[in-house]
Amino acid sequence: MAAVEDLMGLARQAESELDNNAAEVDRILHICNACRYCESFCAVFPAMTRRLDFNVADAHYLANLCHNCSACLYACQYAPPHEFGVNLPKTLARVRRDTYIEYAFPKAFGELYRRNGLTVAMAVSLGVAAFLIATIAIRGSLLVHGLEGEFYAIFPHNLLAVLFGASFLFSIAALAVGVTRFWRQVSEPGRPVPLSDAVGEAAKSALTLQYLGGGHGDGCNNEDDGFTLWRRRFHHFTFYGFMLCFASTSVATLYHYLFAIEAPYPVFSLPVILGTLGGVGLLIGPAGLFWLNMKRNQMQTDERQKVMDRGFIALLFFISLTGLALLIWRESAAMPLLLAIHLGFVMGLFLTLPYGKFAHGIFRCAALLKHAIEKRRPNPIQAGSD
Ligand code: SF4
Ligand code: SF4
Repeated sequence: MAAVEDLMGLARQAESELDNNAAEVDRILHICNACRYCESFCAVFPAMTRRLDFNVADAHYLANLCHNCSACLYACQYAPPHEFGVNLPKTLARVRRDTYIEYAFPKAFGELYRRNGLTVAMAVSLGVAAFLIATIAIRGSLLVHGLEGEFYAIFPHNLLAVLFGASFLFSIAALAVGVTRFWRQVSEPGRPVPLSDAVGEAAKSALTLQYLGGGHGDGCNNEDDGFTLWRRRFHHFTFYGFMLCFASTSVATLYHYLFAIEAPYPVFSLPVILGTLGGVGLLIGPAGLFWLNMKRNQMQTDERQKVMDRGFIALLFFISLTGLALLIWRESAAMPLLLAIHLGFVMGLFLTLPYGKFAHGIFRCAALLKHAIEKRRPNPIQAGSD
């Protein structure tokens, strides 16, 4: 009962924070709309010129269009210590954090993750790993020789498929509910536009991380006014590393069900090559993002969001590290132990996917699509460039 009351208290607090953050977006964008110095920096500014006032839905939409490149903070003549105190990157970062919670399904899970992202991610992963280790230790197969990479001798394939398939499907369904709610709130009816053009433009912006170029292509700001392309590069290592690992799992699933070819696969097979390349990407990308996150100037971002960022970064890094260790030592006696630890981190990722930084990619794609649709319609204000 006390736990329910705690969660309701957190939800009430979150709602009042959301109102305050949205009101600050409205205040700042009224100043920006008069100034317009940053008009060419990113999609936020042309989207801004289509509005005279900014409600909560607009705040969520614009917050998820922003890539936190910080170009507008360093360019702004009204940034702190000016009395106007214009800090768009930080204000939009606060609203983005609200987005992940506001649209999370179930909402209470999002609230929990917002406060303790790193702790929740690690607790879930290590808890699952400990449970799996205890299970195989009781069966006496924790440290055994002679299995030669036979993962399914430790955990039957069907058991893994049901457990991990169900968790993954739950997360995808939770994300779909969240992004549908977001889309319903931020989209308005208007003149139909060629949807394939808009989807193509949004996909290109998302896949190239166009707006981490800082508006001029030289990169964004991290700890000072110097530009760096490393945020974009580390994001790319992370994203494409994740996609390669996903491709590896998909190919292995096809091998298993369509061609009855079961793991372990040889080192020069497609699933292992894709998984190894993806694993290396998922070591480099998250390690680099963590490094940049540690150095990041606190003026530019929402300090409280770091627990979420670091939780997700840590999960990706440990999944990759344990996966590569499992590949290297899969024929040793340590294979069952390494398998249990790796599966624990994978399960930790699946269960927390909808409540943290993974969700930001989904909301950002939705915001980019809305922007691509919106810019193909006449500007209702007719007061700025589009
Ligand atoms: S961030 Fe500052 S410089 Fe840029 S448009 Fe807004 S008020 Fe003008
Ligand atoms: S921080 Fe970068 S992406 Fe965000 S509003 Fe400013 S210029 Fe645009």
